[in-house]
Amino acid sequence: MKNFFTDNEWLGRQLLHPEMHRIVELYEQGYTAAEHDEEAPRNLEEARVGYWEAMRILGALCAEHIAPYAANVDREGPRCEAGRVTYAVGTAEAHRLLVESGLYGMSLERRFGGLNFPVTLFVMASELIARADASLNNLWALQNCAETIATFGTEEQCERFLKRVAAGDTCSMDLTEPEAGSDLQSAMLRASWSEEQGCWMLDGVKRFITNGDADIHLVLARTEAGTNDARGLSLFIYDKRDGGMTVRRIEHKLGIVGSPTCELVFDHARAELVGVQRMGLIKYVMALMNQARLGIGAQSVGIAEAAWRQAQLYAQQRRQFGQPIATFTAVAELLATMRTKLDASRALLYATARQVDVAQGLARQANRKGLEPDERAAMKQAQQRADMYTPILKLMSGEYCNQITYDAMQVFGGSGYVKDFEVERLYRDARVVTIYEGTSQLQVIAAMKYITNGALVGELRARAEEVAARGGLDYERWVLTELTERFVELIQRTEAEGDAFVELHARRLVECGGALLMCYLLLAEADDERMRCSMRHYVAMTRSLVMAHIEMNNALAPEMAKALLASVQ
Ligand SMILES: Cc1cc2nc3c(=O)[nH]c(=O)nc-3n(C[C@H](O)[C@H](O)[C@H](O)COP(=O)(O)OP(=O)(O)OC[C@H]3O[C@@H](n4cnc5c(N)ncnc54)[C@H](O)[C@@H]3O)c2cc1C
Repeated sequence: MKNFFTDNEWLGRQLLHPEMHRIVELYEQGYTAAEHDEEAPRNLEEARVGYWEAMRILGALCAEHIAPYAANVDREGPRCEAGRVTYAVGTAEAHRLLVESGLYGMSLERRFGGLNFPVTLFVMASELIARADASLNNLWALQNCAETIATFGTEEQCERFLKRVAAGDTCSMDLTEPEAGSDLQSAMLRASWSEEQGCWMLDGVKRFITNGDADIHLVLARTEAGTNDARGLSLFIYDKRDGGMTVRRIEHKLGIVGSPTCELVFDHARAELVGVQRMGLIKYVMALMNQARLGIGAQSVGIAEAAWRQAQLYAQQRRQFGQPIATFTAVAELLATMRTKLDASRALLYATARQVDVAQGLARQANRKGLEPDERAAMKQAQQRADMYTPILKLMSGEYCNQITYDAMQVFGGSGYVKDFEVERLYRDARVVTIYEGTSQLQVIAAMKYITNGALVGELRARAEEVAARGGLDYERWVLTELTERFVELIQRTEAEGDAFVELHARRLVECGGALLMCYLLLAEADDERMRCSMRHYVAMTRSLVMAHIEMNNALAPEMAKALLASVQ
């Protein structure tokens, strides 16, 4: 029986990561939960067995019941009739299976019907589902909305909505409007308080909403009439059972066809406020989007994993000039590069998830019984790391996912361009990961903050000390120390030329910093020859990237850049 979890040893390894020890202890309240809850694990081993079993069940589901129908879902797609959406048959069936397997709501607390799994497991589940069908992963990953309600909603809202999510009700995140895409602070959908009804009412249009006919929506809306910035926006829960919202149309898209992308019309739809007014975008949506960006990292890795596997298999089977094409250096190097980028993306994905878990686990503890000063400092550090890693992950894994699916199609030759093989769909599905949940350009802006305030360089130095403490890999550590110094010089030289020059080279700076971070993460994971092979390759690629970006910084002088940019405006 095929299984997407057990056929990938890198996933099992994540469960054995040393940091999981602390994470599980935090989530399980030092294993005291087992005293009053028979479903709670009594120790790390029991928890790991539970995680392993859940991933094994999901891995089988993905391989046997989801992946085989992904092509049909892609052909059929969802339909919109009379303002309501019907999923493709395969999507509806896969959703039913996921709910029946008891995996829905896996990261929610047990009192809300969840499994109390760390975010790391939710991310792993997303990777597995995305490998099987990236469009289905969108419906799955939108459970993030429940996390936002759990963090910022009232106890009563949690009781009402989280249990429904754990039972399989779906969610959507309604932020984008025709005139508010990257610039969400200009969202104008109106929320007004109705004295008569004793509730908030929503009026306006949302565009590009994934799973827009969901049961439970989080909606960004303007509560402060006369404002036009972020301070006038609040976050609401809209319950489809209350009516007042219709789906005007669904988009015809290049990829992730099974995931309905909807235009929504709210017409005096009842809604309830999350948290306090005016904090919608500033606080709640930022937290929601960070979770969603982690989810896109998982989706990127899942799609890339599928593409890499398909390409490797094909390259071994396809013969030209009397030999398997995998034996041609040009093809073998393509395959090796794909695998290395995939390994680097996965290393950053799970490192980010673990930081989120430490921060979230300590935040839960803070709510229960408060924190000691050292725990509070640890929570702050983990949150800062999570905030810094997330845009880098979204940028790098999204771009790599596109490069990997592009190269996979190249390995297939003409057969990759036609619909006979899965790689054609993967190539189309991949395209959106650098666009939604904030484009790559927006991730660069978010990540630049950590370059200009020195946090990313500080992080690289901290990681260097960690790997030095483990010993070994002297040459690679020396290369990375040298490259980090070149990177610091590059930042200083760029900053010396002023803000416009920093903006011009921002993407190159973030790519250098991101690649160096991923090098250190790979160094820490290079426990066997296979991983050392990828790590050395990635260090070499990063060396070449940093050098190329330094050259570009020298070559594209400020005056030339100014003239160049003006010429296209
Ligand atoms: C399939 C799909 C599903 C989606 N699902 C959802 C969903 O569930 N919920 C939701 O709310 N939204 C969703 N979206 C919307 C998505 O998040 C936006 O499309 C995305 O944020 C970009 O906004 P935009 O399309 O308006 O592009 P624009 O904001 O118009 O951007 C166009 C170009 O300009 C660049 N740009 C814009 N501002 C800047 C800047 N300050 N600096 C540098 N470059 C900039 C962008 O990078 C991009 O290249 C979805 C979109 C798609 C395609």
